[in-house]
Amino acid sequence: MANVIISGGNGFLGSHLSEKLIKEGFDLTIVDNLSTSKYIQVPNKAKFIKKSIEKFTTNEKFDFVIHLAARPSPEDYIKNPLATIDSNDLGTRNMLEIARKSDATFMYTSTSEVYGDPKIIPIPETYFGYVNPNGIRSCYDESKRFSEALIKAYERQYGLDVRIQRPFNVYGSRIREDGFYGRVIPRFIDQALRNQDITVHGNGRQTRSFLYIDDWIDATRKFLFNKKGEGKVLNIGNYKEINILNLAKLIIKLTNSNSRIIHLKPREEDPRRRAADITNVKKVLNWEPTVTLEEGLEVTINWLKNKNKL
Ligand code: UDP
Repeated sequence: MANVIISGGNGFLGSHLSEKLIKEGFDLTIVDNLSTSKYIQVPNKAKFIKKSIEKFTTNEKFDFVIHLAARPSPEDYIKNPLATIDSNDLGTRNMLEIARKSDATFMYTSTSEVYGDPKIIPIPETYFGYVNPNGIRSCYDESKRFSEALIKAYERQYGLDVRIQRPFNVYGSRIREDGFYGRVIPRFIDQALRNQDITVHGNGRQTRSFLYIDDWIDATRKFLFNKKGEGKVLNIGNYKEINILNLAKLIIKLTNSNSRIIHLKPREEDPRRRAADITNVKKVLNWEPTVTLEEGLEVTINWLKNKNKL
């Protein structure tokens, strides 16, 4: 069976993908420094190496090299800008070298943040973005943009088979809800389940489009294993936009919570709108999201309820 290496395989996306690949019989190596992890959640049958991806070396050959290691939570990455940059520039370079030596297929999870504060909604892959190169979010969005350049350089110079996906706000079980790692959905659910105030930044009219984890896994597998994915840059997301205030209200309703909504100061450089144009991914991979926000939220709510005994 094919040999796969995943960086960041203990994280939210990585652990779900790892579990799926192990079930399908792949030989899997996971490299993760656990820097943003609370639990170890790698499948038993995977080989686990605790190391930062920028420092990892190996002579082993792989068929697929998947680079997921990153610090995607804004409140976390603005506090750790250099570690955030390292996994994107040095880490990407290192994973590319592993792929080049193996002549492997290289898959990268870039981000919808490469579009910054977009002026076009829904955002097609051809939109180059509206990004502040030295702003508070630049350690993440600019280093992700740079890593896309690096990956394309390996394709042009070495003919490497590279595939870049740009996920849009994926959520589901195993995503961290606590501290500054907590992204908006798990954080709001946790607050609602505890009947605490729901903390909306600014007026809450900023939007996102959310993708449920099972849809992300399905898209990622198709992208990885379909020959048509070679060399492509694809949005993996939802086109349905919701504003953050309405998201808070929906979560209060679905959890039957007594929480109040409070407004905190707006986040600096918070993108005002984000939604994916998925025309390309539909065409190339015959994929589109199948789980509605309400369905995905129900599952995530139940998971958090059981995990934290709420
Ligand atoms: N957000 C919020 N309250 C919170 C956390 C996030 O209102 O406690 C908003 C945030 O301002 C942003 C959106 O939710 O507009 C998504 O934030 P998240 O941290 O999940 O990730 P982003 O999409 O900004 O990378």
